Amino acid sequence: MLNLLKNTLCKDSKERCAEILERNFGLDFGRKLGIVLLSSIIYMGASVSAYANIDLKGDIKQGSLIIGKTAPNATVTLNNESLKVSANGDYAFGFSRDDETQYLLNVTLASGEVFTKTLIPEKREYKIQRIEGIKKSITHPNVKAQTRAKEDRVQVKAARAITSNLTDFATGFIVPLNGVVTGVYGSQRFYNGVPKSPHYGIDYAGNIGDPVKAPASGTVTMWVPDMFYSGGTMIIDHGHGINSTFLHLSNSYVKVGDYVKQGDVVAAVGNSGRTTGPHLDWRINWYNVRLDPALALKIQ
Ligand SMILES: [Zn+2]
Repeated sequence: MLNLLKNTLCKDSKERCAEILERNFGLDFGRKLGIVLLSSIIYMGASVSAYANIDLKGDIKQGSLIIGKTAPNATVTLNNESLKVSANGDYAFGFSRDDETQYLLNVTLASGEVFTKTLIPEKREYKIQRIEGIKKSITHPNVKAQTRAKEDRVQVKAARAITSNLTDFATGFIVPLNGVVTGVYGSQRFYNGVPKSPHYGIDYAGNIGDPVKAPASGTVTMWVPDMFYSGGTMIIDHGHGINSTFLHLSNSYVKVGDYVKQGDVVAAVGNSGRTTGPHLDWRINWYNVRLDPALALKIQ
């Protein structure tokens, strides 16, 4: 075995190679190789045992993004639905705002070893928010506006359906704008007293033109400057169906197809679409499942 390694490592001039090793390490070549070999076995053992259970980041609660790590070539299912696993063993999923499902996460290693974990997202209480003074043209959109809004939804849905091999979600997220948080995930809004669908982003107060940073690296998959409700709207794909959406922007500094790095300035705060003042609304999705960016920010 040692000879085999010696032959492989020191292909051409075996004697010279052995000499160099001995001079540098003060060890007999055979012993040195033995130590290297032993260390490799111990290291490999450690790597395997590190992946030998289910390794998850993120709170097991409603609205949470979950980032998993397993061994390369493992397969992962969530209630029998296959999750995309990267070459490095990264995978991701999430729980919707009102998710009360009991999940079974199943990780099968290439060796055939199977690990399972039951996940029940913890229930949350959400805030109720009342907003008055919304323009009638917004609360009662005309037919033309409704048609436009429908087209917008189709476009957003298509961008969020994108599956890519990027694994930028695995490095975690940073705050895209340093501003006071004026709106939170899950809150139910009443416009002029009428209940609306819950709010799914974090709102940061800002001034028109303030720089908006990419919360994680990824590819810009959508930019529309004038959506009916959300105004200037950008979507960045972070891989495996995890994406960020920015709403009410006044400008974009990137274009569809661009790969942006975490922290890059990609857009400017605006006041476009349905809004009561300049702010950034940041959302995170796992495909069409709306997640809480505040919980994603906690993942390190
Ligand atoms: Zn908002």
